[in-house]
Amino acid sequence: MNIAFIGLGNMGAPMASNLVKAGHSVTVFDLVESAIQALESEGASRAESAEAAARGVEVIISMLPAGAHVKGLYLGRDGAPGLLDVLDGKPLLIDASTISPDDARTVGAAAAERGLSYLDAPVSGGVGGARAGTLTFIVGGDAAGFEQARPVLEAMGKNIFHAGETGAGQVAKICNNMLLGILMSGTAEALALGVKNGMDPAVLSEIMKQSSGGNWALNVYNPWPGVMEGSAASRDYQGGFLTDLMAKDLGLAWELALGSKSSVPMGSQARNLFALHSAQGHGGLDFSSIQKLYRAGE
Ligand code: NAD
Repeated sequence: MNIAFIGLGNMGAPMASNLVKAGHSVTVFDLVESAIQALESEGASRAESAEAAARGVEVIISMLPAGAHVKGLYLGRDGAPGLLDVLDGKPLLIDASTISPDDARTVGAAAAERGLSYLDAPVSGGVGGARAGTLTFIVGGDAAGFEQARPVLEAMGKNIFHAGETGAGQVAKICNNMLLGILMSGTAEALALGVKNGMDPAVLSEIMKQSSGGNWALNVYNPWPGVMEGSAASRDYQGGFLTDLMAKDLGLAWELALGSKSSVPMGSQARNLFALHSAQGHGGLDFSSIQKLYRAGE
């Protein structure tokens, strides 16, 4: 298929790369030139703008930081037209970013007015999953669009879920990431407590993994440096899933809770922890660096 891929960051780059490897014809665009060049060297075609990338394609995939970027791309910003204003043909629109369900519904409704299918398709699985092509896609949108998207998503992911109507993918993803934020901070807290009381972090991790404290953060994303080979913690928390993005997702969970009169005391606590960690200058580190917050003064 002819696919446009917009947003080649920590996640988008390996996802676009897997589409190229699967034999799709992929045209890429990012605001960062070096990101475009890296994909070009892997066989993608370059475009000088999102509009140029989207010209004549069957599918457009976006992987951008937050809702403002996604709305800017599709609806336009500062008086400039968005993709929806300039598209030729009827490409399927797939946004894999994590944004608010309301923003997804806004873009979805504008797309529907122009006769286009829009899917919110946020992902889970991290940079490792993006590289390995084993991401989980959590899709909101109409069933026909979902079936059309499935073969494309299967080139980048292993588990493809249809969560419901437009926005439902984001609701499910936000619930998942609220839980992840709670699990990561809880894991960091337990490790810090054990180490302060004489435990070796690797030994403690192994014990908890085989006990009732086992969870994804501990099992595959250990936040203590040196415990897990290849983890973000073992490369000084560089790359991965940024603290600022986790803080954003916990903010989305908080908004969702406010709007639905839900109580999320654990999620609120996690949001405050990641916001504090970011305010201390760690927003650009992987989110497992929340471990540092528990090691202050060491
Ligand atoms: P990132 O910051 O590494 O990448 C975002 C990319 O978008 C950057 O390369 C940036 O230059 C580009 N960009 C921004 N505005 C643009 C525009 N108008 N046109 C073209 N390119 C533009 O972020 P990421 O880690 O790749 O995450 C992307 C999304 O996926 C976020 O919503 C995040 O919450 C979500 N997510 C991330 C992870 C992870 O582990 N990193 C996991 C699941 C979901």
